[in-house]
Amino acid sequence: MKMKCEKSDKNGILKNKKLFVFDLDGTVYLGNRIFPEAVRLVNSLIESGRKVLFFTNNASKSPDFYLEKLRKSGFEIPDGSVMTSGDITASFLLKNRAGKTVYLVANSSMKKEMSEKGIKISDGQQADIVVSSFDTELTFEKLTAACNLISDGAEYICTHPDLRCPTENGYLPDSGAISAMITAATGVNPVFFGKPHAETMLEITEKTGCRQEEICIVGDRIYTDIAFAVNSGATSVLVLTGETDEKMLSGVPEESKPDFVFDNADGIYKAVFGL
Ligand SMILES: [Mg+2]
Repeated sequence: MKMKCEKSDKNGILKNKKLFVFDLDGTVYLGNRIFPEAVRLVNSLIESGRKVLFFTNNASKSPDFYLEKLRKSGFEIPDGSVMTSGDITASFLLKNRAGKTVYLVANSSMKKEMSEKGIKISDGQQADIVVSSFDTELTFEKLTAACNLISDGAEYICTHPDLRCPTENGYLPDSGAISAMITAATGVNPVFFGKPHAETMLEITEKTGCRQEEICIVGDRIYTDIAFAVNSGATSVLVLTGETDEKMLSGVPEESKPDFVFDNADGIYKAVFGL
């Protein structure tokens, strides 16, 4: 049986990966507190010729916002280094629901992005599809419109299943918590995108040209980051800088555990660069 939760990389598995996909919240920073170990690791990976991608389920901000935040924090990363669950959802809508009208329970930045990509956005009166996300501009009116549309037969999609978002001041109710409220009121479960949805790996392999077995997923959460790697056949690394601690990890079923566990990004640095 494959070993799980390794604390060192005796077989040089991580050293041979071509692409490292990092989560953001709880993995490279907590709110505005940047983890210096993550900055050193990412810059060294890029310098060594490896590829780095940041993939966050947190679609409350645009990829450009994150790119700028990361660069200001010392990450020396090229354009196009950030993808969100909003990108995966938009890509699905354009490929599979062309011409349909979408009502968004999401921040205005996502409304702008989706509209610019050619998706028809509804004002809440009528829609074929309701998409909910991590909406920090949520109002009772938006919730009511979404519930009425879903009850009238609109398809229900949610950008990502995360229940809570870690920050330096504690947790914020995230996309999964908002969708749980809509589900409670309508009896309808959404289709979720982002991590751990398989569609996400397809987009990443298409974008980077790397195969699953060449990819290492780094994150702080079992049910999104690690489940994503397990579902898609990539190698997984859990860092204990966000949601998951040793106690939570001990309660996770064997098949859902990460391949490697490190206190922070320094563990990966040591594994890859032997220092
Ligand atoms: Mg996270």
